[in-house]
Parts: sequence; C-alpha cells; structure tokens
Amino acid sequence: SSPSEPIRLEDRIRDIQDFPQKGVLFKDITPLLQDAAAFRAAMDRMAAHYAGAGIEVVVGVESRGFIFGAPLAYLLNCGFVPVRKFGKLPSETVSVEYALEYGTNIVEVHKDAIKPGQRVLIVDDLLATGGTVSAAMELVEKLGGHIAGIAFLVELSFLKGREHLKGHDVFALIKY
Ligand code: AMP
Repeated sequence: SSPSEPIRLEDRIRDIQDFPQKGVLFKDITPLLQDAAAFRAAMDRMAAHYAGAGIEVVVGVESRGFIFGAPLAYLLNCGFVPVRKFGKLPSETVSVEYALEYGTNIVEVHKDAIKPGQRVLIVDDLLATGGTVSAAMELVEKLGGHIAGIAFLVELSFLKGREHLKGHDVFALIKY
C-alpha cells in the first residue's frame, strides 16, 4: 500500500483452514505482528478508541491478550494485569473455571491486582464464542473492578460472542 493510504489491518490476518482441528478456520494474527506499520496502526487505533475513557487498568488474557494488552496499557498510561492459566501466578489468586468445547479450563488473577471500583479494560486478540473473555470478566468482578470496556483485535461476529457480553462496551478493530 502507498504511504498515503491507511493500512488495512484485515489484509494482515491469515486464514488457516482446519487448525487446530478440522472445521475451524483459524485467524492467524502473526502476519500483522510481523509488520511494524500494521502492528503500530492496530495499537494506535485501539488506544485512540479509549482516549478519555478514564481506563485505569488493562487486563490481558493469556496468551495472545498479552501481546495487545501490554502495549495498550503503555499507550493509555495504565498498569497491566495478566489473567493467566491455572498455576502460573505466584501470589494469592482468585480463579474461575469455565467450559470449553471439551472439558474445562481455569483462569486466575492476583487478588491484589485490581482495587474495588477501578476502571478496567479487558483485552484479548479474538472474540469467538465469548467464553474466554467471560471468565476474565468474572475475575475482574470478583475483585470489585468496574468493566469499562472489552477490546479485541478480531471479532468473529457470526459466532455471536457479543451476546454473552451484553451491557458492556465491546470494541473490535476487525470484524468478520
Ligand atoms: P472464545 O472463548 O470462544 O471467545 O475463544 C476465544 C479464544 O480462543 C481467543 O483467545 C482466541 O485466541 C482463540 N480462538 C478462538 N477461535 C479462534 C479462531 N477461529 N482463530 C483464532 N483464534 C481463535
């Protein structure tokens, strides 16, 4: 693209058929990450959306939520809090168990990571069914945080994950 045209982020997302299992069309974000201008544009656009929103803490969901959450926290002049898979956080945690297609998963956050009433922005790379981000929301609520926004690089609109996030400000840079 010429320097004058805005970068089309969707051109930097690669479709992989049948990954990690048959029937799944995987949205591979690594081409976007590799492209300095596209990665910068994605972070700048996300940060611009939340300028003046009074975000105090950015929560990133392991592991691709860390890739976007940390630079977003930096740009918004906020702290960053990781929501991690079970057993990874060293101090006292609260945890939530949630259903996967097969079995369950547990995510955790440090008990002292969010103060009651703090304005929290939750970030992940992609919204599919919304199960993962709902678990992160539950953790934030357990600590008394106020969910001021939920941000994604990609939203798979046809999976209707947004319907599980009703009443919240949901933002995605790229929608399919
Ligand atoms: P869900 O809990 O169904 O909203 O799934 C969201 C999580 O699974 C995100 O953290 C994504 O990284 C990953 N994910 C789910 N579906 C896809 C997909 N089609 N392509 C890439 N990542 C996906």
